[in-house]
Amino acid sequence: RDTDVEEMLEEVADRFSVQMRKKAIRAVVGVDKRVGKAILDRDQIDQVLDNLVSNAIKYTLEGGRIELSARLQDNDALAVSVKDSGIGIPKRDLSRIFDRFYRVDKARSREMGGTGLGLSIAREMIKAHGGTITLESEPDVGTTVTFILPQLQEKGEQS
Ligand code: ATP
Ligand code: MG
Repeated sequence: RDTDVEEMLEEVADRFSVQMRKKAIRAVVGVDKRVGKAILDRDQIDQVLDNLVSNAIKYTLEGGRIELSARLQDNDALAVSVKDSGIGIPKRDLSRIFDRFYRVDKARSREMGGTGLGLSIAREMIKAHGGTITLESEPDVGTTVTFILPQLQEKGEQS
């Protein structure tokens, strides 16, 4: 149940290494020293990370860059970000981006494939953890998705 966060992020990058190499996308992992281990449902968070990284690859052009990072907030909550240098999302779509089946611009989405469920599933799982997930994006610059997981259990547990 104790997950080494840096290891977890390295492993996501590894799972997608072939896909990234095909598009000459570089992955960078950066974890703050204070992070160490976290209490989380590894299967669910892996699924969230897979959804976010698959989006980052899908919506980033050849030669781009993806950054996986983690840090602790003031309240010890764990913040994890997946940042890409991709095509971004227009402002008008941002409010619906976590809705089920919502996809930006049908034409651009159709050629990429997908159903528009990845982000909504990610949000459900983060919610189930008592966490939050947010997305920031700028067209032609890139997108950053950040989820925050409270680490309250750790204090109550004191094994
Ligand atoms: P699925 O995940 O079900 O295969 P999808 O990737 O289209 O399909 P979501 O992951 O829910 O669905 O994302 C919804 C929409 O948000 C996408 O269609 C895409 O237009 C936009 N989007 C998501 N992530 C990014 C990103 N990193 N950069 C640019 N656009 C994104
Ligand atoms: Mg997706």
